[in-house]
Amino acid sequence: MSLTDSVQNKQPGVITCKAAVAWGPGKPMVIEEVELSPPQSMEIRVKVVCTSLCRSDVTAWLSQAQASIYPRIFGHEASGIVESVGEGVTEFVEGDHVLTLFTGECMSCRHCTSGKSNICQVLGLKRDGVMHGDQKTRFSIKGKPVYHYCAVSSFSEYTVVHSGCAVKVWVLLGRLQISLKDQRWSFLVLGL
Ligand SMILES: [Zn+2]
Ligand SMILES: [Zn+2]
Repeated sequence: MSLTDSVQNKQPGVITCKAAVAWGPGKPMVIEEVELSPPQSMEIRVKVVCTSLCRSDVTAWLSQAQASIYPRIFGHEASGIVESVGEGVTEFVEGDHVLTLFTGECMSCRHCTSGKSNICQVLGLKRDGVMHGDQKTRFSIKGKPVYHYCAVSSFSEYTVVHSGCAVKVWVLLGRLQISLKDQRWSFLVLGL
């Protein structure tokens, strides 16, 4: 990450960082320097600490069905630390430890409020390579868009996710504690 005004003035700006970029279906992922926008409304920017490689990443990467949304950054299961927050975010602050979610929870749609479903109608699985909010990418290389995967794209040093697609975690006395509100999601993500 380059030191920008995001660090010095508390106003998040564009940062540059390294990411594994897939340039086409099945093509090798290349470590590239990418630009990453500041988090937009209700989004958070996260320093990725750990990310896993899931079979879904491999399947999507090998598929020819979405050849138009490359270059692309895969990865949809990660933990990290909040680097900055966008407008309207109250649930997270800089420095929070979080898990990312590829199926989020808006807390207000019919499914989220039903108590019976985990298929959020607002922050559901995002397959088209852009973010939920404005249908744009946050990553770019020399100004050209680099597409997301599941609106998480964690094969990167930093990423931006919707705040409803993350849960806060605490490590207390060696035990992992997860935001109660989102336990069902976290267990799902962690495979517990
Ligand atoms: Zn997965
Ligand atoms: Zn919802």
